[in-house]
Amino acid sequence: MYFVCLTFDFDAFSPWIYRKMTNYTNLSRGEFAAIGVKRILKLLKNKGIQATFFIPGHTVEHFPIECGMIKDEGHEIAHHGYLHEPPETLAGPDEERAVIVKGIDVIKKVLNIIPKGYRSPSWALTRHTLSILQEEGFAYDSSLMSRDFEPFFPYLYIDVDSEGKIVKGPISSLIEIPIHWSLDDYPHFEFVRYPTYVIHGLYSINDVFENWVANFEYMIRNLNEGVITYTFHPEVIGRGHTMTLLEKLINYIRNTQIAEFSNVLNVANLFRRKLRDNQ
Ligand SMILES: [Zn+2]
Repeated sequence: MYFVCLTFDFDAFSPWIYRKMTNYTNLSRGEFAAIGVKRILKLLKNKGIQATFFIPGHTVEHFPIECGMIKDEGHEIAHHGYLHEPPETLAGPDEERAVIVKGIDVIKKVLNIIPKGYRSPSWALTRHTLSILQEEGFAYDSSLMSRDFEPFFPYLYIDVDSEGKIVKGPISSLIEIPIHWSLDDYPHFEFVRYPTYVIHGLYSINDVFENWVANFEYMIRNLNEGVITYTFHPEVIGRGHTMTLLEKLINYIRNTQIAEFSNVLNVANLFRRKLRDNQ
């Protein structure tokens, strides 16, 4: 069985605030996420697809109506930090845990949901993140790149000792649904001037469509089963030309009649059972 997970990281204002890039125009890019969410929800409803939205606590507080619409349409709501804090930028495990707990509390308070999935802002886990998630009762993480199409039980950490040797932790009880930048809309389509570097983006949707489809086709041709996880951002994929791309991608995959669209939690639960049965 092949699965396709369409995932949407509803970052909105939070990364701009965390990076201290709060000029009016940057914040207006964050505000556009709400427009994007409405377009995405309409398309998903039209196509009968259940997706996963990873939402920072700050976004939940500032866009309760849009987050409520996501919930009411039956999509999965998962954790994405509070203010989009990449774990590697935090002071240590105590601060990491505090941010994770704060994110859970906001989702619980505003939406009455306890998130079971986590995606690290900017995909930057530390040696502590998976242990904290495990202890806080999460079912899955979606931030690692050790596989491409196969859910797996990751090491709790991979670290480097003082002599440069790789040290691997014990196997996690969380299941990992892998991701990759090549299947992410942000680097392909955004233009951002950070203080020390620039994301050029602004690629042609036809070129990116070819890449995204080539990954899907490789999975179908070479694996007996698997999941491909696309990572989108409402403020990116919600623009006119990129919505056209998203619809084209959905139509292409559906026409193959070989894969099923699913939210991430259902895929995580299914593969956890399968992997345990095979142990
Ligand atoms: Zn994000």
